[in-house]
Amino acid sequence: MKASRFRVPAIPRSLAEADGLREECGVIGIVSGDGPAAPMAHLGLYSLQHRGQESAGIATSDGAGLWHHRGMGLVFQVFDADRIARLPGQLAVGHVRYSTMGSVRLENAQPLVVPSPWGPLALAHNGNLINAPQLRAELEAGGVEFAGTTDSEVIAHLIARTPEPVPEDAIASAMRRIEGAYTIVVLVAGRVLGFRDAHAIRPLAIGTTGRSWILASETCAFDHLGALPVRDVDPGELVILDATGLRSIQVLAPGRVAHCVFEYIYFARPDTVLAGRTVHLARRRMGRILAREHPAQADVVISVPDSGVSAAMGFAEASSIPLEVGLVKNRYIGRTFIQPDPATRDFGVRVKLNPLRDVLDGRRVVLVDDSIVRGTTSGKIVRMLRAAGATEVHARISSPPIRYPCFYGIDTSSRGQLVASTHSVETIRELIAADSLGYLSQAGLVEALQLASERLCMACLDGHYPTRVPLESLAGRHALEPVADRPVEPALRGGGRDE
Ligand code: SF4
Repeated sequence: MKASRFRVPAIPRSLAEADGLREECGVIGIVSGDGPAAPMAHLGLYSLQHRGQESAGIATSDGAGLWHHRGMGLVFQVFDADRIARLPGQLAVGHVRYSTMGSVRLENAQPLVVPSPWGPLALAHNGNLINAPQLRAELEAGGVEFAGTTDSEVIAHLIARTPEPVPEDAIASAMRRIEGAYTIVVLVAGRVLGFRDAHAIRPLAIGTTGRSWILASETCAFDHLGALPVRDVDPGELVILDATGLRSIQVLAPGRVAHCVFEYIYFARPDTVLAGRTVHLARRRMGRILAREHPAQADVVISVPDSGVSAAMGFAEASSIPLEVGLVKNRYIGRTFIQPDPATRDFGVRVKLNPLRDVLDGRRVVLVDDSIVRGTTSGKIVRMLRAAGATEVHARISSPPIRYPCFYGIDTSSRGQLVASTHSVETIRELIAADSLGYLSQAGLVEALQLASERLCMACLDGHYPTRVPLESLAGRHALEPVADRPVEPALRGGGRDE
């Protein structure tokens, strides 16, 4: 990787991100009939950048050799034209990372490459395993040396150590052993393979240009590549792409399908289609239902840019209150700016968001955002709106309160981080100093998604986990580090309500 003179860190998209809810990686896999695969993977990663900003990587192959580059930072920092030109071949897998297991360092950047009986194997993963410590201990006992501390490396070695004649059989065998949320692409032996856990918690879709096949976390990548979506990878399905086209093996009997509702609420781009639902339209329906459930007497509706925008639009439509731009986001400030005066109150928020006084002054404001995690940023924004002249601030949140940790690839693995796990809605309203606070109900969310609740994961809202889950003390991004302290037998609870 070229040395970078400066860091361009990620910019929070909403209260949720500033508060601590962050994406959990994006993956792409390509078998190109349109020329070299690396430029396509590169462009695809740009469209998935919102899913991870800590590192990026691409591995390519011509069916014989394998080339690989990864680095810390955003896609544009890791790759330039020269670097892409040095990744030949018609096959590629790529990754953008936000760490949910394993610390932020190059060894944990993906795609990971490990030796295998079929040649070098590159793997990129989105999700979190819940039995990674146990599997890692087993592999280490068998002599595997790990370079990093991610569950993704556990999966790569598990596949590479399975003595099967073809990689698809080894992957199928690994799928039967790993537990948790996983959407994975693998490049090995002249093919790209994609697979998804039996609950289909994280998204993975198939697209085609007619000559090229593409696997991607989100369909917005297809749009940028001139491809059309074909379908989602099914729960427990293994898809094999090579020069002959697409094959599929249904490895796992589909379990209870449990699509993550936060992909719709916050993570995915609004122009992505998940399970047949355009994310922007789903968010707009959330806003409409939110207005029905929690009406407000106000003069303007504003959103926290960017992920609250679609829901604010829906709230304004349903309430007939004009939608306005009340906060302008500085897109070029990241997490590591230098604070001129440490005592400057709310500086961190003010440098990223600027209120429009002419819109807010003397007005009663509805402030729409997608979620509240810790609640600290919400209070700062409410204060900022009041300082800009808002006479009332009514906070409306287009998700139900987040009360339980996520063990499936979102960085909220402790209830202590979640303000709604220990505070009532009224107490949160007091904490953020809003005149009123209303959350979308769970029933309202299901109505907005137009999917049966039995097909959704809403565990962080209601504690009903679709899989066994680890004890909170063993979960989280550092569950595999330090190695000496790692538990050999993770304690697992059965699925069901976490009380
Ligand atoms: S627990 Fe919440 S954030 Fe995690 S996968 Fe389920 S719905 Fe998504």
